[in-house]
Amino acid sequence: MSGASLRPVADEFRVPPNLTDYEAARASFRWEDARDALAGLPDGAGLNIAHEAVDRHLTGERATRTAIRWLSKSDDVVEISYRELGERTSRFANVLDHLGVAPGDGVFLLLGRVPALYVAALGALKHRAVLTPLFAAFGPEPIRQRLELGHGRVLVTSRRLYERKVVPVRAQLPELAHVLIVDVDGEPPDGTLDLTALLEAASPSYAIGPTDPETPSLLHFTSGTTGTPKGAQHVHEAIVAHITTARFALDLHPDDIYWCTADPGWVTGTSYGIVAPLALGVTMLVDEAEYDTARWYHILEEQGVSVWYTAPTAIRRLMRAGDDALTGRDLSSLRFIASVGEPLNPAAVLWGRDTFGLPIHDNWWQTETGAIMVANFAAVDVKPGSMGLPVPGIEAAIVRRTGDEEDPEAELGVEILHEPDVEGELALKAGWPSMFRTYLGQPEHYARCFRDGWYLSGDLARRDADGYLWFLGRSDDVIKTAGHLIGPTEVEGVLTAHDAVVEAAVIGIPDEVAGEVVKAYVLLYPEEESTPELLRDLQGFARKRLGPAVAPREIVVAKSLPKTRSGKIMRRLLKARELGLDEGDLSTLESDVDDRSHGVTPGPDDEKGQT
Ligand code: ATP
Ligand code: MG
Repeated sequence: MSGASLRPVADEFRVPPNLTDYEAARASFRWEDARDALAGLPDGAGLNIAHEAVDRHLTGERATRTAIRWLSKSDDVVEISYRELGERTSRFANVLDHLGVAPGDGVFLLLGRVPALYVAALGALKHRAVLTPLFAAFGPEPIRQRLELGHGRVLVTSRRLYERKVVPVRAQLPELAHVLIVDVDGEPPDGTLDLTALLEAASPSYAIGPTDPETPSLLHFTSGTTGTPKGAQHVHEAIVAHITTARFALDLHPDDIYWCTADPGWVTGTSYGIVAPLALGVTMLVDEAEYDTARWYHILEEQGVSVWYTAPTAIRRLMRAGDDALTGRDLSSLRFIASVGEPLNPAAVLWGRDTFGLPIHDNWWQTETGAIMVANFAAVDVKPGSMGLPVPGIEAAIVRRTGDEEDPEAELGVEILHEPDVEGELALKAGWPSMFRTYLGQPEHYARCFRDGWYLSGDLARRDADGYLWFLGRSDDVIKTAGHLIGPTEVEGVLTAHDAVVEAAVIGIPDEVAGEVVKAYVLLYPEEESTPELLRDLQGFARKRLGPAVAPREIVVAKSLPKTRSGKIMRRLLKARELGLDEGDLSTLESDVDDRSHGVTPGPDDEKGQT
């Protein structure tokens, strides 16, 4: 299913890629050099993310450039220059200071994608608080749990979100000392403060205190795709990896108009939706509204987006909407498209090439890794369906765990599988700058992620003879059938190569003979009808390409698939529902909004982020 690779044509680059010779960069790259190239705080006072992202631009000509161009739901456009962002974030840092918030204290954000979110995030980092952005669509209980686990001392939110989601749990949060409301109109609600008034009264200058690279920066929760979300703790040194990877893997240049569609409630929305683009001095778009096909194409065109970072779920929605939505649009400003979050099926990569003249560049990373680790690069061949090659500075291996985990005496290690095309767990040599430093409240779980100096990702992959990595599935989602191990990704990739299928999810269900058999849920293009003929055709299509042992035994047409709010298919939930098992932690569940009313697996119809 690998198909032909897509070769970049050097003459067609509008700007020379940051990474032109992958092998040479891999051989010579050193994290120490990348770190030394950063500005650093004045007088050698360390490395602070907000200094690199904001303050360091304020002395040069970049100060007047637009840092954030915000598009409101009602189509207002607000431009914030680097200078203004510098002042506003300093005011916020001063507000924290006046409130007695100490470096290391937890500052949580519960906001839609409004300017205040970006100001508070960077201001909190200036003050060396530990920042946790939450999805505004979370319900009260997930909010309470995360605030409690992260010892949230400050919460920045809107009046509406406060009243609906925080008031019901506030009494259970004794550590939550200050709630700052961004949109007070009149008197702030009881027990809260008017952030706008506090900002106005605060000084617009703030000297960032000494920041050791190991100073905690962000506490980010994982997506909860495989179970209860874990809180991954990051440090200020992560900025070295943010900048490096945004240059290499997103090919960001300072003059880009850049759009990352991820919400900061998910790590992509902070690492590449706040920190990295600002650190590189680009103009970054923020759209307050949720996904909408026509709106998205309009934004790409009207804003002249040059680099676009999005997710497979969004790409497949655009594919499903059909090309009519593109008629008359001029998207020629686009020069690089990247995707992250879950497997990007080959059909989606090719759709990018056919639709925009640009393949979609898949990349892989996790909340735990803090930054992109594996990527398809602008100047390197793209193999549709592969997540690409390790970023320079990152050593990746395919490994097998050794030792009996059940036996407390056993020596646990890893065996590195050097041969190409062998399936195993994707591991990364520990020590890159943005590596998480612990799982909050679960140090033993953190320790279990490391063996012999390798971080074990929990994802299964293989590496081909050219060094490209192919995602097979999460170890929890792998299907064991008649002695074979089947990764859902390959089966889903084949199903979505069928003209009628836009999205697919594959799980294993128990079978007396085979142990497990493969069951697939497919989402069709709107013009396709679910008929017995189509299903037979699809079965035949899958069998021909995968063989009878791997092809799905059963294929079901779904109206929607259960996904996390970061857009990942929750196979564990499909399985639990199929088998009538406990559904587990659903705090991050979002139903596929394409068709909520008829979905086989509707989720809670929670409100969208508001302020
Ligand atoms: P949880 O750990 O709570 O189950 P999660 O793993 O989905 O949630 P994230 O850290 O947001 O939380 O997601 C990282 C995971 O997403 C990776 O481990 C991988 O399984 C998947 N992923 C990310 N990018 C890709 C990609 N390009 N191809 C395939 N899978 C990807
Ligand atoms: Mg995970």
